[in-house]
Amino acid sequence: MSKFFSSKYSTLTPYTPGEQPKDMKYVKLNTNESPFPPSPKAQQRAAEALGKLQLYSDPDCTGLVNKLCEVYNIGKDEVLFTNGSDEILNFAFMAFCDKNNPAVFPDITYGFYPVFAELTGVPYEEIPLKEDYTIDVNDYIGVNKTVFIANPNAPTGIALSLSDIEKIVSSNPDNVVVIDEAYVDFGAESAVKLIKKYDNLLVTQTYSKSRSMAGARLGFGIGCRELINDLITVKYSTNPYNVNSMTIAAGTGALEDEAYTKANLQTIIANREYTVEKLEELGFTVLPSKANFVFAKQPDISGEKLYKELKARGVLIRHFTKERIRDYNRITIGTREQMDILLKNIQSILKEEQL
Ligand SMILES: *Cc1c(COP(=O)(O)O)cnc(C)c1O
Repeated sequence: MSKFFSSKYSTLTPYTPGEQPKDMKYVKLNTNESPFPPSPKAQQRAAEALGKLQLYSDPDCTGLVNKLCEVYNIGKDEVLFTNGSDEILNFAFMAFCDKNNPAVFPDITYGFYPVFAELTGVPYEEIPLKEDYTIDVNDYIGVNKTVFIANPNAPTGIALSLSDIEKIVSSNPDNVVVIDEAYVDFGAESAVKLIKKYDNLLVTQTYSKSRSMAGARLGFGIGCRELINDLITVKYSTNPYNVNSMTIAAGTGALEDEAYTKANLQTIIANREYTVEKLEELGFTVLPSKANFVFAKQPDISGEKLYKELKARGVLIRHFTKERIRDYNRITIGTREQMDILLKNIQSILKEEQL
């Protein structure tokens, strides 16, 4: 730390992204990316945008907003695009939290929430998940804090029902409830349909997982006009050109090709069910996942050892050191071939373990 770094950041611990090692080619099942490339339509639109890079990007993302509104059946003033959904989450901490409106989220959830809270100087409370890693909805009824819930949750993959989400939203009319739907397309129910009914609901989604565009950095938030306006104020006070023109174009192209996304989703969901079945045959406990990953543990090997042994064999998965979840690993669902490589390696690691 230099002597110039503001003391307000002296205790800030930044988010640790999943590793992207360059030493060899891995079967990469550690950061929940899609195993499939972006839609050809998205690639074509992005290529067309290259020749106009001398111009600033459209700060209102007009074409992209129009297309999304058509697909999601919402109004143009009910959506804001950002540089990944991490950015809109950061904006939400800036816009809707402060000393009088602390943040609240589960103890086991997306690791960026406490980082954003620290960065923005917002007090926060972490509510423990139940023993079975589910969220106890009652903990959030009338909490009078700004609520952040990932649905499905990360890294557990467990989803809440829409009626449970609605209970949380309706019981906190004086606070914003942010539902982070990064993984919603893989089988959970979206809360987008509730935004017309509740002025305190912000739903965030991303192109990083279901639309195969993690590297493009595109996310968005959907909520009532007033909430979106507040977020727009923060955006225009931070970086009006937060989404670049290639990404705006690619994002529009992806929405023109929803059939491609749907087909990939079906494949990934089928591969997830296949992987769960095979892991259970190998003695794993697998939490019920509605995401493009599974969270699993095996009684004969520690989470850390399995992670390390797999890495040595060229398969990357994600291990977290946090006490409550360190027996587990998070495994991204890839192609059937990738999952078979994973399973074959796990099988031989377990065999060695049992010698
Ligand atoms: C991946 C992820 C995000 C955001 O990803 P972006 O790439 O910034 O859109 C947000 N929330 C959760 C829970 C995630 O797993």
